Amino acid sequence: MRFDILTLFPEMCESVVSESILGRAREKGLVEINCRNIRKYTLDKHRRVDDAPYGGGSGMLIQAQPVYDCYRSLCEDIGKKPHLIYLSPQGSVLTQQRAKELLEYDNIALLCGHYEGIDERVLEEIVDEEISIGDYVLTGGELPAIIVADCVCRMIPGVLSGEDSFTKESHYASLLEEPQYTRPEVWHEKAVPEVLLSGHHANIESWRRQRQLERTLQKRPDLLERADLDRKDRDYLKKLTEEETE
Ligand code: SAM
Repeated sequence: MRFDILTLFPEMCESVVSESILGRAREKGLVEINCRNIRKYTLDKHRRVDDAPYGGGSGMLIQAQPVYDCYRSLCEDIGKKPHLIYLSPQGSVLTQQRAKELLEYDNIALLCGHYEGIDERVLEEIVDEEISIGDYVLTGGELPAIIVADCVCRMIPGVLSGEDSFTKESHYASLLEEPQYTRPEVWHEKAVPEVLLSGHHANIESWRRQRQLERTLQKRPDLLERADLDRKDRDYLKKLTEEETE
């Protein structure tokens, strides 16, 4: 799978994607992540890429030409059109489910706006999808692009130590993960739940499932509507809700 981040600040993206788990995944050839500098494609003799918006208003807009030429050069390099995502506060908010679906694309281009954004006309021509990372506004699309790449890449086989590393985590199955503990067994007079030291796998699994249901009900009850729950889970949730209302 290949990601191309189209940005005015390639160093900012490169510094993050070359570190830690993503950096190692790139080194191992499990994923390719490139950063392409939009400014390199401007035809302006002063290398400008932005201008004031028509109709007035504050801030500057990235012009259509350098973005379009940057995109065209990427298409030529890879020999096809990538799935182009524009990072925008106006897009659909990123979910784990959407990140899973994005794994189906071989080539994803992540277009980062900056300043006031990008001239609408080029967006109309090249954007396949708009993704937001939340209902708030940032100064640029670089952090959101890295977030999308990170979230998708960690589900590529081999990037993490095993599938469990992401399938058992919060959001994968629309539940939050249970609390977890590591050494020492007692810290600040708080002991690790005994069941986790018992070695009894069935009991541990059942304890984990119950904590997941409890946490999700407490912190994000909206997720439960999408979760895959069996009869036992539903009975447990019913019991918890009844206890709460007593
Ligand atoms: N004028 C735009 C608006 O009101 O919709 C906001 C522009 S924002 C200041 C500059 C750039 O940051 C955007 O083009 C986008 O690429 C990025 N950005 C800001 N907030 C974002 C968010 N929540 N999710 C994804 N990208 C975001």
